[in-house]
Amino acid sequence: MVAAPVAPGADVTAEIIRLVDVSRVYGSGDATVHAVDNVSLAVNEGDFLAVMGPSGSGKSTLMHILGCLDVPTSGEYRFAGEDVSRMNERELASIRNRRIGFVFQQFHLLSSMSAWRNVELPLLYRAARDRKQMALNALAQVGLTGRVQHRPNQLSGGQQQRVAIARALVTDPTMILADEPTGNLDSRASREVLEILTGLNKSGHTIVLITHDPNVAGVAERVVEMADGRLRDRVAA
Ligand code: ADP
Ligand code: MG
Repeated sequence: MVAAPVAPGADVTAEIIRLVDVSRVYGSGDATVHAVDNVSLAVNEGDFLAVMGPSGSGKSTLMHILGCLDVPTSGEYRFAGEDVSRMNERELASIRNRRIGFVFQQFHLLSSMSAWRNVELPLLYRAARDRKQMALNALAQVGLTGRVQHRPNQLSGGQQQRVAIARALVTDPTMILADEPTGNLDSRASREVLEILTGLNKSGHTIVLITHDPNVAGVAERVVEMADGRLRDRVAA
């Protein structure tokens, strides 16, 4: 990494995620499950982190906490400096809408809408005058300028996921959180999607990628592994 000149008093690296001893417990008594068990993690602006682990290891539970879809049972979660671990549902929704771009395995596009209408959707909650232009810019960033009027069923799986990435990008989020983004794609489309995520990271976006696939995790600069709710850094072989 090249050190950039820093103005006096400026943050050298902004911390986007800070988890301190975070646990998420389901159930009680004999049925208690420590789905996330005392996890501490820091992610800085511009990082590209992959979270790996087998089924049942706690990845989705951790993702829900990172994405402000759920709050920890105990421990502290700071997102871009704000303590989100004690926020109510309305406050969490505001963080999600303004600060986090989500990409899911199943794309979650609206089938009756064109690509650009889908990408505009997150902007409808804002007073955005230039929604269409912002949506078209985001679609250009994922190489879909020629497909903006197409509906999802007129696009390949890889193109649909690129629309979903454009929708995640269009609000200029603090972090992009991708949960198994290549899980429904063939190897070529997977490569394209990972190239786009890598390119977005190179242009400064913070990315957290959840996957069970070591080849997918391999594009990230840092890989952590979940096992039985615990997190550890993966040491390169
Ligand atoms: P992964 O995404 O890695 O497959 P999950 O986070 O979905 O793992 O699950 C972690 C553990 O927590 C599993 O043992 C799972 O059965 C349990 N679990 C997940 N969600 C719930 C829930 N809503 N209620 C009870 N147990 C749950
Ligand atoms: Mg899961």
